[in-house]
Amino acid sequence: MIPRTETALHNHSWQWYLRHAIRNTDELAKALKIDIDPVPTAFPLFVPAPYLSRIERGNPDDPLLLQVLPRHAENQVVEGYVNDPLQEVEQIKGNGIIHKYRGRILIVTTGACAINCRYCFRRHFPYAKSQLSHRDWHNVMSYIKEDPTIREVILSGGDPLLMSDNQLSDFVKMLGEVNQITHLRIHTRLPVVIPQRVNETMLSWISGTKLRVIVVIHANHEHELDDQVHQAVQKLISAGVSVLNQSVLLKNVNDNCEALCNLSWRLSSIGALPYYLHRLDKVAGTAHFDIPATRARKLIAQMKNRMPGYLVPRLVSEIPGSGSKQELIA
Ligand SMILES: *Cc1c(COP(=O)(O)O)cnc(C)c1O
Ligand code: SF4
Repeated sequence: MIPRTETALHNHSWQWYLRHAIRNTDELAKALKIDIDPVPTAFPLFVPAPYLSRIERGNPDDPLLLQVLPRHAENQVVEGYVNDPLQEVEQIKGNGIIHKYRGRILIVTTGACAINCRYCFRRHFPYAKSQLSHRDWHNVMSYIKEDPTIREVILSGGDPLLMSDNQLSDFVKMLGEVNQITHLRIHTRLPVVIPQRVNETMLSWISGTKLRVIVVIHANHEHELDDQVHQAVQKLISAGVSVLNQSVLLKNVNDNCEALCNLSWRLSSIGALPYYLHRLDKVAGTAHFDIPATRARKLIAQMKNRMPGYLVPRLVSEIPGSGSKQELIA
């Protein structure tokens, strides 16, 4: 039931693509015309068709494929790689609020995503609830009002755009009534994974708020950014949104200067600016994606020598207990 043509890709809702996403290695192998070894995993394969369509057929080393394909290396225990390196589980169990940095709070809206990225911390996360209730949202408002330094609310997850537009619209309305909040940020991979998510219903609540809206998408390789993603980003921009991108530095996906530079140029061409390049969090089962800090710094130094400054992302890692992301200077 996988659409094979561009026309088919245009004709469905984002929910349709989620329902019909590829969920096992046999289907994936067939679609990509390669042999795939099934790997036992508690974090299943999950790839929707729009993303699948950008993976090169017949290429087992495709940089997009490597982001979604379960591999045996995931089941190897590597010292120093743990289930919750950022020590966030405790913080999330309550009302979904993570308040680590001054001026902004992050809300874990849902544990679900539109794709299962193999390098992600989500693979081990015991999400207490799948979605926030109406009561939780009211608690968020009370929390904000108790701390006048909070000016920005960041919707994160999982992927906040898996919430319905009704829920999002209600929340944004509530938030708009809290005077101290001026900025709404949305951390989402959906405009990349299923660009059809950016539809008229979504654009109407975005255009309707007086909040400054920033959408931070997540792409790691230029091939993820096809014409449909370009159109989705353009629609967001037309609705007044600033679009940024965050990437993760991943071995064999984007760990060379050319891949990183091409990603930045492509992002800028479609209307998104590079924001962060994250070093991998040391999550169990992801060690085979990791790049040493010295190599990461060197890559950024090379980028600086080749690219306009605004196209060089900030290389950061997250250190539990610190007041912001930690930048690694090249
Ligand atoms: C990353 C993160 C933010 C956002 O940090 P910025 O540097 O503003 O992008 C906010 N809160 C939490 C808990 C985070 O992990
Ligand atoms: S979209 Fe983001 S949160 Fe979801 S699995 Fe991928 S990296 Fe993790």
